[in-house]
Amino acid sequence: MNKLHIYDSLSSKIKPFEPLEKGKVGMYVCGPTVYNDVHLGNVRTFLSFDLIFRYFKYLGYKVKYVRNITDVGHLVNDLDEGEDKISAKAKAESIEPMEVAHKYTLGFRNVMREFNALPPSIEPIATGHIIEQIEIIKKLLETKLAYESNGSVYFDITEYSKENSYGELSGREIEDLINGSRDLDGQKDKKSPLDFALWKKASKSHIMRWSSPWSDGFPGWHLECSAMSEKYLGNEFDIHGGGIDLKFPHHECEIAQNVGNSGKKGAKYWVHTNMLTLNGKRMSKSSGNVLLPMEIIKGDSKHLTKSYDSNTTRFFIHQAQYRSILDFSDEALKASEKGYKKLSSALELLKSRKNIGPENGSFDVKKWNHSCESAMNNDFNSPQLIAYLFEASKVIQQDIKDPSILGKNGAELLSEKMNIWIHEVLGLTDFKDQGSGIYKKALEGAMNIVFDARKNARERKDWETSDSIRDKLLRAGIQINDGTNESDFTVTQ
Ligand code: AMP
Ligand code: ZN
Repeated sequence: MNKLHIYDSLSSKIKPFEPLEKGKVGMYVCGPTVYNDVHLGNVRTFLSFDLIFRYFKYLGYKVKYVRNITDVGHLVNDLDEGEDKISAKAKAESIEPMEVAHKYTLGFRNVMREFNALPPSIEPIATGHIIEQIEIIKKLLETKLAYESNGSVYFDITEYSKENSYGELSGREIEDLINGSRDLDGQKDKKSPLDFALWKKASKSHIMRWSSPWSDGFPGWHLECSAMSEKYLGNEFDIHGGGIDLKFPHHECEIAQNVGNSGKKGAKYWVHTNMLTLNGKRMSKSSGNVLLPMEIIKGDSKHLTKSYDSNTTRFFIHQAQYRSILDFSDEALKASEKGYKKLSSALELLKSRKNIGPENGSFDVKKWNHSCESAMNNDFNSPQLIAYLFEASKVIQQDIKDPSILGKNGAELLSEKMNIWIHEVLGLTDFKDQGSGIYKKALEGAMNIVFDARKNARERKDWETSDSIRDKLLRAGIQINDGTNESDFTVTQ
């Protein structure tokens, strides 16, 4: 495809991408609820949007990427009743809710850094936008799309449905939704079981609370994303993203709130990533069917036979298109490791290629690069892009024997383009780096201490200590490369 096309979940169509403002993209992605460590499923979703962010940049757009932090209103079981996930954790650990949110926000950022995800342009926090949320509620009350009941405020789906279709994003019918709704505590305050909370009056034991015109309470989960997307991107922006499980009720309710607030649905393109599964079942915090990213990097899980670095894991994630289900397995990661190694060594081979052969070779690099673009233009089809990268690796191998395949110019251009696709678009770091981010930094720091100790031993002519450090490190999987550079090492496993 010559032009970028994106699957829009709202219209269920692949649509050519036309930005609202020429040369610019506004993208809002629902961020994590910070009450627990993010799992690999969450990471899949955030890396998918990182790829999308990176590809927009590759195309030359100026991107404003807003990804929030949910630190209030997301109740246990994703319903309108029950305890806030953050305060439940705070109680369990006898700490402040804000300590919970802070701890897991930092953890999330570390994981994102480890996987080489670019930071978003803005990372707004829900509790920092209570005023904006209250303002939207006031407006919805004025237009009669919301009503107050016992200190809580609910969105009125019956009123909204007179002119709009609630359920349009998730393809649900109002009747079915009513029949399927459960009789829960607090439902008595609602006119219809489908109405959802905009503001909830806090019970005495509820610790996360703010004052409002209606009660001391807290905002509903869906409202924060309407408030923060409007504040930073306006009431019409290009992309709204999240995992497919957020389509209903979260994004359905966001659309209703947006329409009630501004007359606009919010995003022009609704983008939903599919789920990462483990043993065929969705990876989720609540079911306990999870694998943590750091468990993979440390190789510390019953699901794994060994550790895999963040590059391998990221490569594995991008080997599936973001809209297909991806099942995690040790074998799949092993295959990804092999695949990425193959790709990296082809790139190394290309870098060390001698400047030989004719000026121009028989392989058309420009045409190949166009195919790579075409793959990504087809709704960010990363597996197709990776297939083209493997094709190029084969060409590189053949060119070693016959340099007329790439020629001098072709080799230079291919090297430049492969670097861009692998490092800048797919976000993979050099395989030789053996990992990225915080772990690599920490390892380098620790190794400098070891090198100092070894240097001191050598200066004392204590060869025994010096050799023993070297041998012990080797057994731990680190090989010291003695030579001109005293602090050179390789991780061997
Ligand atoms: P949460 O912290 O539960 O609000 O989730 C953060 C993001 O991760 C949301 O966009 C979810 O849709 C997404 N997510 C949750 N579970 C998975 C999964 N198993 N696979 C892919 N994405 C997921
Ligand atoms: Zn959201």
